[in-house]
Amino acid sequence: MHQPALTALTGFDPELAGLVEAEAKRQHDKIRLIASENYVSTAVLEATGTVLTNKYSEGYAGRRYYEGQQFIDPIETLAVQRAKDVFGVDHANVQPYSGSPANLAVYLAFLQPGDTVMGMALPMGGHLTHGWSVSATGKWFRAVRYGVTKETGRVDLDEVRDLARAERPKLIFCGGTAIPRTIDFPAFAEIAREVGAVLVADIAHIAGLIAGGAHPSPVGHAQVISTTTHKTLRGPRGAMLMSDAEHAAALDKAVFPGLQGGPHNHTTAGIAVALKEAAAPGFRDYAHAIVANAKALAESLVERGFDLVSGGTDNHLILVDLESKGIAGKPAAKALDRAGIELNYNTVPFDPRKPFDPSGIRLGTAAITTRGLGVEQMPQLAQWIDDTVTAANAGDEAGIERIAAQISELLAGYPMPGWA
Ligand SMILES: *Cc1c(COP(=O)(O)O)cnc(C)c1O
Repeated sequence: MHQPALTALTGFDPELAGLVEAEAKRQHDKIRLIASENYVSTAVLEATGTVLTNKYSEGYAGRRYYEGQQFIDPIETLAVQRAKDVFGVDHANVQPYSGSPANLAVYLAFLQPGDTVMGMALPMGGHLTHGWSVSATGKWFRAVRYGVTKETGRVDLDEVRDLARAERPKLIFCGGTAIPRTIDFPAFAEIAREVGAVLVADIAHIAGLIAGGAHPSPVGHAQVISTTTHKTLRGPRGAMLMSDAEHAAALDKAVFPGLQGGPHNHTTAGIAVALKEAAAPGFRDYAHAIVANAKALAESLVERGFDLVSGGTDNHLILVDLESKGIAGKPAAKALDRAGIELNYNTVPFDPRKPFDPSGIRLGTAAITTRGLGVEQMPQLAQWIDDTVTAANAGDEAGIERIAAQISELLAGYPMPGWA
């Protein structure tokens, strides 16, 4: 059953409650390897399910446009203070609805339509909002894009510097959604300084690793830091913008009134709780365990003949090019889901296949680490992945079902918050 119990919901809307219950059980029964997902704590779940959702609070603490902020102001102030403490920044804004609107606020703060932005190309591991063509950020701004080199699968910073010198972007994004390697914030900062650009570190994927000291921090290098709160940071769906004192006012104005109306106070409360968890000593162990699991899983996959972009990982994320296994990303992801291993198909750099039917899969270890799986289980997990790919190629559905049964048996010993 879902925890906390859905008593009133089940009574009033059994159809909807049944779907939520089924999703909770699904999250329990799957090895969840989607790199952007996690399991939030029961405390975060409780905070996001409160009467705070009833309240309108346009503005910022002490400067609101609605009355009745006696308790909302301290809640938002607590979230802001905790963000500043966890990341060691001058300024934090916890109001962006999610990572994409947070990034749009950064454009609004520092660019005019048509100005030049530089970001990592989507098929190379960047995010849509870093100026990709189908995104508003690619339509309303002039976007130039860097990538990784074919031989190494890593960003070539000389290429980034040359591009920045030639194109003179006003804004440079570093970070992305499918980057298995450490981001060199000091090197990006040097390039941004040289061309007079504002450097934005989009740490959506790795915020929890940074909070836990398992990835270098962009603080002191990037003037602006954008992050979601729901990936490795393990909070509710939401986002934060952080910055030095100089860029604070422009960011705040861009979020409200530039882009948004009232903040989602129930989400703000959940973010405050997640940040308290991230400040607790156990979170350092969690962040390092995520990376240890990813490295162990990567090693076990390589031993079984999988071809990893960049050859391995430094963080929570693994990008696999399946060409050597004779299967495309989508049929592999679908077969793995049937086997009880949930991940997403993904473009790999220089992918000869189409984005909707690419060559790769993306894996992340944040959620399974929350669940309590450790490095000792990673060889078995790699073996299941390999066996599933083999079974899919052979059309062996019975083999896939056997793996699903083994996985369900393993996970019975690893409880999740939110379902019991
Ligand atoms: C996930 C992500 C985002 C967008 O977050 P949403 O909450 O899905 O809008 C932005 N940037 C990066 C690098 C991300 O990984």
